[in-house]
Amino acid sequence: MEKKQFQAESKRLLEMMINSIYTQKEIFLRELISNASDAIDKIYYRALTDKNLVFDKDNYFIKIVPDKQNRVLTISDTGIGMTSEELENHLGVIAKSGSLAFKSENAAQEGHNIIGQFGVGFYSAFMVADVVTVISKALGSDTAYKWESTGAEGYTIEPCEKDEVGTDVFLKIKENTEDESYDEYLEEYRLRSIIKKYSDFIRYPIKMDVTGR
Ligand code: ADP
Ligand code: MG
Repeated sequence: MEKKQFQAESKRLLEMMINSIYTQKEIFLRELISNASDAIDKIYYRALTDKNLVFDKDNYFIKIVPDKQNRVLTISDTGIGMTSEELENHLGVIAKSGSLAFKSENAAQEGHNIIGQFGVGFYSAFMVADVVTVISKALGSDTAYKWESTGAEGYTIEPCEKDEVGTDVFLKIKENTEDESYDEYLEEYRLRSIIKKYSDFIRYPIKMDVTGR
């Protein structure tokens, strides 16, 4: 399979995330939950104008699944999903919010301040994960696709199986190092407190499903 390269600007942000110059790593969850919520919003707004689409509130939620045994944290949503083109264009290039930060000439010096001010977006996942896998099925599409990246080397996209429309983001949580522990991002109580801190205002239910205890 061909490995595709990130755009130069994206690669810079990605490298910053991987090297985690930013101390508040916990914000990755805020970013992924906000993307999940945005994706559900998109279905909601679509349903306002598309009479073939019914927005039944009970079907729209965000689910967080920590799996300690496999060291995987999953963030799922029943939102609008992404086609293979969207996976390519939205995850392969720098986010709008991120690019805003990086267009500033002082971005390098101000590094962490800027990350604090603006949303860093999807790439913040790489602060806590060494492999990020996104499985998504777009509304109105028959095929699901898997986007996967181990960081700055690039990413792959291939067709895969997924029944429901929406997106699953799988984070292979980093191994602990001498100076840093990542185990907390698989702890239910810790995840709950991060969600309370940053994502309390999210309009859709955030469910937690603990496996592999
Ligand atoms: P931003 O949210 O500021 O646009 P991100 O880096 O967080 O930047 O996300 C980039 C883009 O990837 C989003 O704008 C969206 O189009 C797409 N995306 C990310 N996560 C999801 C998701 N869970 N469902 C659908 N689209 C997503
Ligand atoms: Mg975002």
